[in-house]
Amino acid sequence: MTDSNTDSLVFQPPAVPRIPVTGQTTKFPVRRIFCVGRNYAEHAKEMGADPERDPPFFFTKPADAIVVNGADIPYPSATKNLHHEVELVIAIAQGGSDIPTHSALDHVYGYAVGNDLTRRDLQAEAKKSGRPWDTAKGFDQSAPISSISPVSLCGHINMGKIYLEVNGEVRQLGDISDMIWSVAEIISALSSLFALQPGDLIFSGTPAGVGPLEPGDRVHAVVAGLPPLAHTIKTNAAMHSLVD
Ligand code: MN
Repeated sequence: MTDSNTDSLVFQPPAVPRIPVTGQTTKFPVRRIFCVGRNYAEHAKEMGADPERDPPFFFTKPADAIVVNGADIPYPSATKNLHHEVELVIAIAQGGSDIPTHSALDHVYGYAVGNDLTRRDLQAEAKKSGRPWDTAKGFDQSAPISSISPVSLCGHINMGKIYLEVNGEVRQLGDISDMIWSVAEIISALSSLFALQPGDLIFSGTPAGVGPLEPGDRVHAVVAGLPPLAHTIKTNAAMHSLVD
């Protein structure tokens, strides 16, 4: 027992957010959530950006923004334009700094399907005024995610369909091979900015077709080779009334 375990605390800290592992009863404890800002040329174009191979840029969400597969998600406060962004999520098991691309995949525990929920109206305002993206990207319950499939089960994901349906209709469609920055390149670039740690997640960017979600919408998100992500947006009348 270390001293830190016997210190008395002002209050009991919350449990570490955790994600089910495909085919196992053990769970993956989440440390941090990193996200790649722009990683498919067609999506960069639809957002009005030049899809050149500029270095990847990153933003974050709090670890407790995680929502496990199948859970209902309230329509968030303070927005009238909630958007879906289906993404391949990389789960890190072995940390490191300045990781070279040739060994970057050794740091991966597995992969999942995530939805980088976005208050698009707040993001547009932040972009216009040069302000941070936290309120647009890092809000409560903004990171629904499927179970994590270990590499031993699914291999490394470098090609295959990625798509998202709303109420059974395909809204986003792309291929993992269209990513501007590969999984290994993302890990290498991110580890030059942060010492990666076991439990870190990386949302790797979204293909074209992002659009609005409304209360009651059913989301079904797929990356070929992984179990799908499903969730529903429910109404939260009390919070929603704050913006009216
Ligand atoms: Mn995204």
